[in-house]
Amino acid sequence: MKRDLFDYPVQYVKGIGPKKARLLARLGIKSVHDALYYLPYRYEDRRFSPDIRSLRYETLQTVTGKVLSAHLVETTRGRMKIFEAVISDGTATLTAKWFNQPFMKKLIRPGISVVLSGVVKRSFIWGVGYEMHNPEYEIVDNDAQGENIHTSRIVPVYRTTAGMSTRTIRAAMFSILNHARENIIDYMPEDILKRNRLPSLKVAIENVHFPDYDNLEELQRGISPYHRRLSFDELFVLQTGLAIMKRAQSYTKGISFSAKGELIKKLIEKLPFELTSAQKRVIKEILSDMKSPRAMNRLVQGDVGSGKTIVAFSAMLQAIESGYQAALMAPTEILAEQHYMNLHGLIESMGLKSALLTGSRKEKPLEEISSGEIDIVIGTHALIQKGVKFKRLGLVVIDEQHRFGVMQRALLRKKGINPDVLVMTATPIPRTLSLTLYGDLDYSVIDELPPNRKAVITKLYRPEQKSLIYSFIRSEVKKGRQAYVVYPVIEESEKLTLKDAIQGKERLERVFPEFRIGLIHGRMKPHEREEIMNRFKEGNIDILVSTTVIEVGVDVPNATLMLIVHAERFGLSQLHQLRGRVGRGADQSYCLLLAYGRLSEEASRRLQVMVRYTDGFRVAEEDFNIRGPGELFGTKQSGMPDLKVANLLRDARLLEIARKEAFRIVQEDPELIKHPRLRSIVERFWKDRLEIFRTG
Ligand code: ADP
Ligand code: MG
Repeated sequence: MKRDLFDYPVQYVKGIGPKKARLLARLGIKSVHDALYYLPYRYEDRRFSPDIRSLRYETLQTVTGKVLSAHLVETTRGRMKIFEAVISDGTATLTAKWFNQPFMKKLIRPGISVVLSGVVKRSFIWGVGYEMHNPEYEIVDNDAQGENIHTSRIVPVYRTTAGMSTRTIRAAMFSILNHARENIIDYMPEDILKRNRLPSLKVAIENVHFPDYDNLEELQRGISPYHRRLSFDELFVLQTGLAIMKRAQSYTKGISFSAKGELIKKLIEKLPFELTSAQKRVIKEILSDMKSPRAMNRLVQGDVGSGKTIVAFSAMLQAIESGYQAALMAPTEILAEQHYMNLHGLIESMGLKSALLTGSRKEKPLEEISSGEIDIVIGTHALIQKGVKFKRLGLVVIDEQHRFGVMQRALLRKKGINPDVLVMTATPIPRTLSLTLYGDLDYSVIDELPPNRKAVITKLYRPEQKSLIYSFIRSEVKKGRQAYVVYPVIEESEKLTLKDAIQGKERLERVFPEFRIGLIHGRMKPHEREEIMNRFKEGNIDILVSTTVIEVGVDVPNATLMLIVHAERFGLSQLHQLRGRVGRGADQSYCLLLAYGRLSEEASRRLQVMVRYTDGFRVAEEDFNIRGPGELFGTKQSGMPDLKVANLLRDARLLEIARKEAFRIVQEDPELIKHPRLRSIVERFWKDRLEIFRTG
């Protein structure tokens, strides 16, 4: 019953009505609940009321006084109506002016007391004396014990919409709050509140809107105890959902892969290098998951070039030796093709069989997959499409999966396939974000690059410096190295990009008649792409011009130079991914960023970050700082609910606490039977998302 009131349309709240309700709806506020969680974006300090005599110019001040006189003035040109009121507090006078608000005449009459808040101006005519223009006002009514909401306190300022003044929305919020106050019921278990010194929900909501709290700074930054409580709630509810999913998964019976590890041993003997200790550790973690009878759900994060492929390959070998098939799923066809090219020789040499399966390839080895003849299938999403039947699929590796979020992983399960899942990602994301995006997965990190890697040197160039760029490319290629030249995909028009790339190639052919130049892009037929990549790999192409199809995963160690044209158009994580294509061998590599036009502040910050940092985690942190978490690559499509109050950057510590508490409560009471209110809040937050996991 009470919750209904929480969901009550604001329109029916006293003092709101249909017209204001329509305006509020534009701000996303339909129910009382929406309104209570529509927080002020800043606060103004209107607590102190100094003597008028000691007011300071050009600062926001609040004064109290009696109206001495009030009248409407029309400017000589007749266009403007100014309502002027002279206020005195016994120390001096102040003139308040409201422009084109003639109705003020009815409100501010001589003899009444008022509180005014506004920026203090010098009197225009006299140069001395105080003025305020369009100040916020409150009429002091000695009889009523009403609360001041616009002055004499720290007042909330809300984002508003055309047709609704800050004053109106504030008053509306006040009415709604009054209406809802008694129906705000806390759903958070007492002990959690106590342990973390968090105020009750009601107190928190009241205070974020109309604070009875002196620390203006904390309010402004959204870290007052009341803000913390609301942020905590959001993070806690999110993590509770993840904890429930994770628990459900951990009960999902999986395969216990029991092979001795002979194939892995064989692989390691074949490798021309030693595994790094990080690779060894992560392989161990994976093998122990695979051995256990529960289904594996593990995320492996490692910066570009950290050597994830071998780690994934080891896991696949373990599955095969245990009598199962394995699949490696990549986000793009070109990457799937790459993996296939890199791995299938190795696979065959171990006496195993592999196949490539992508959407645009005609030959689809479906028979051989369903008969179990094929041990390893490498492909794209096409792998998990309907027509594909495995004989005994034991392990799915999802590589470079920033486009493959919580939801798709769930769908994999829904299809009735229940293999172990290993997710590999290079998209370096800050821990706070990975805890939210991948909070339902176990986590391993390859935090070490293979030895002898030199950090890629990154430089920023402008179009005037093209000749410098050309001589750089020339000298590198003359040393026998290879180069990438990358053009951005312009979202509106893939065709335009292609035109850019084609013209770019022609230009380069004129500049470097002595070099072999190739072109690769997403619209080519798979076999054409394969051929180009093969030629590049074998060193028969010196400069490879491409659209961003090479963004992820491509591995050609002899390529030591990358030129990114229109670097200002790329996002940071994309730039970092691209740069990861070079610096894969022992030679010094370079990344040249060519930026055109006047750079926006954001673009220039991005480029500076690239020049300064090579470490992916550092780049991700900076990206996070520049854009905020919501915009970060991949989070949008991942099916994660939005955060409204909490901010992953600001509330990193709070997130850790919320996660701990959430996992604790789910451990004690997996279905939240003892906490029905909390349960319904979690369900509401995750909507149908939890449903998907229940089938697992
Ligand atoms: P990513 O993590 O970006 O997927 P890859 O698995 O493609 O990285 O590996 C990048 C390159 O490093 C490949 O050429 C690979 O053969 C090589 N490599 C992987 N592990 C090692 C290692 N331990 N020592 C030296 N080179 C390695
Ligand atoms: Mg890779």
